[in-house]
Amino acid sequence: MIRIEHIGIAVKDLEKAEEVYARLLGTGSYKREAVESEGVITSFFKTGPNKIELLESTRPDGPIAKAIEKRGEGIHHIAFEVADIRAEMARLKAEGFSLLNDEPKRGADNKLVCFVHPKSANGVLVELCQEIGV
Ligand code: ZN
Repeated sequence: MIRIEHIGIAVKDLEKAEEVYARLLGTGSYKREAVESEGVITSFFKTGPNKIELLESTRPDGPIAKAIEKRGEGIHHIAFEVADIRAEMARLKAEGFSLLNDEPKRGADNKLVCFVHPKSANGVLVELCQEIGV
């Protein structure tokens, strides 16, 4: 793992949350992106070398809607940048972690992503992400 790439925060109302985070961080969102497969709209903020990703569900049965239903708004996942997502997935599997997907998926922000089940990481949903095309 190279570094924490971003922290994902589940929100009910993206527009309102963008306004809050713009005031909090002193800088506005620099992009919005929908990820159809996950049923989310994301909004990204830069904080130095790191990013904050706000996620709003686009459907009532999507993973973000479910997370908010269970635990309310708040930190949803921590994403780690990796150089080779397939190698990292194989390493984690061998270490006994359970992965939520067998193949890397296309995520937001030009990334291949894979999620590690929170049950195998002390209650934290971990995302692995690899920049596409590097
Ligand atoms: Zn993420």
